[in-house]
Amino acid sequence: MNYESTRGGMTPRPFSDILLEGLAPDGGLTVPVSPPRVPRDTLEAWRALSYPELGAAVLGLFIDDIPPSDLLRLTRAAYTPALFGSREIVPLKPLDGGLTLLGLSQGPTLAFKDIAMQFLGQVFEYVLGQRRATLNILGATSGDTGSAAEYALRGKRGVAVFMLSPHGRMSAFQRAQMYSLQDANIHNLAMDGVFDECQDIVKALAGDLAFKSRYRLGAVNSINWARIAAQVVYYFWGWLRMTDGSRSPGEVSFAVPSGNFGNILAGHFARVMGLPIRHLVLATNENNVLEEFFRTGVYRPRSAAQTYATSSPSMDISRASNFERFVFDLVGRDAARVRDLWQRLAADGEFNLRDLQPSFEARYGFVGGTSTHADRLATIRTVHERSGVLVDPHTADAIKVARAHVEAGVPMLVLETALAVKFDATIREAVGHPAPVPAHLRNLLDLPQRVHVMACQPALVRDYITQHAI
Ligand SMILES: *Cc1c(COP(=O)(O)O)cnc(C)c1O
Repeated sequence: MNYESTRGGMTPRPFSDILLEGLAPDGGLTVPVSPPRVPRDTLEAWRALSYPELGAAVLGLFIDDIPPSDLLRLTRAAYTPALFGSREIVPLKPLDGGLTLLGLSQGPTLAFKDIAMQFLGQVFEYVLGQRRATLNILGATSGDTGSAAEYALRGKRGVAVFMLSPHGRMSAFQRAQMYSLQDANIHNLAMDGVFDECQDIVKALAGDLAFKSRYRLGAVNSINWARIAAQVVYYFWGWLRMTDGSRSPGEVSFAVPSGNFGNILAGHFARVMGLPIRHLVLATNENNVLEEFFRTGVYRPRSAAQTYATSSPSMDISRASNFERFVFDLVGRDAARVRDLWQRLAADGEFNLRDLQPSFEARYGFVGGTSTHADRLATIRTVHERSGVLVDPHTADAIKVARAHVEAGVPMLVLETALAVKFDATIREAVGHPAPVPAHLRNLLDLPQRVHVMACQPALVRDYITQHAI
């Protein structure tokens, strides 16, 4: 299985080559040259597999330069009951109104990003070991992605992590989660500034090509293909748990709270591979750029200044970084057309695919909807009353939109992207009491913290990396 660029300017390369890279050299995103297909009898034969076994089976279709037995070793190390709290790894929980939660947030940082990151940590260490290479991951975080990356890469050989975060602007829980890590290869740099300034420093340092190559800087952002591939697995897992093999065609719908379009893109790939998915229900919050696209065919990203800060903050995205991979399929994998659309985007701030809009649902199964702060609160409250389950604000957005798309005879799986305890202020506002803290995290706030506070200057971060890079 080789990978090419959505803009056509890259010689196809195997998985291990694209794993450590960000954007393709032509500015596009890497995608499989020919997405694998899973015949129905293969799918049925996967019913008996454990989560790590299914992971190795699905990922093996995307990765042919790692032997299957090694891949299984990696998924077994990534998906353990110790890390994810149960043998199932991804448990299902029934809700009212024909909905079921797909429990993706049982990992170390209580959010779905752990699932992709834990695999990424294993496969990075494996590939770097084979190449006798090292990598220094540089990133900025406002909370969630950074901590998932740190928990996945802590203690891994050949990798160090330099994570910038805005000093004093994360919740006490988020700070404790990141800064309590004591591993020597994890460096938390708390910057006296806001998230965008942290992000600017990362861009400046990664954009200095001499510095980047001298210190072998890498990233683990949401365009990393291995993350998408690892997310495809749980669509198969959810489908296998919701069907019993007796009904044909056995379609299932999935509702996905979306920001950078990484999670739902994995669902798109699962569907392209032949998984019987009826609808991919895309839920946005007030930042509804993607919902607008699926409704109208017009893609009009907003500036940072026009992006609202909402109570589902991980979906406060103005520009969905993975969207180009879907558009590539939408235009018939025509790289020249993708190049043209992104040129138009740069020039006009938007493009439109109105002519293709009827195919979004008919051919690709996509439908969309928006959820607001009031919807979020009402949903958290009613789900709690009716099912006794406290959902986080992002999952609540997906539940709200999913309810409008429930169909008789088609199970609806809602992807649970975080646990309620991570967003305690909104939970209190909705139900009047705090969310329960998982037993193993009760003393988190009391643990010693390891963090370097510094002024928001690129030169200081550069010096720090120069001294601590591996
Ligand atoms: C990252 C994140 C999302 C959005 O996922 P995308 O892959 O960016 O669409 C939704 N909810 C939570 C809790 C997240 O952390």
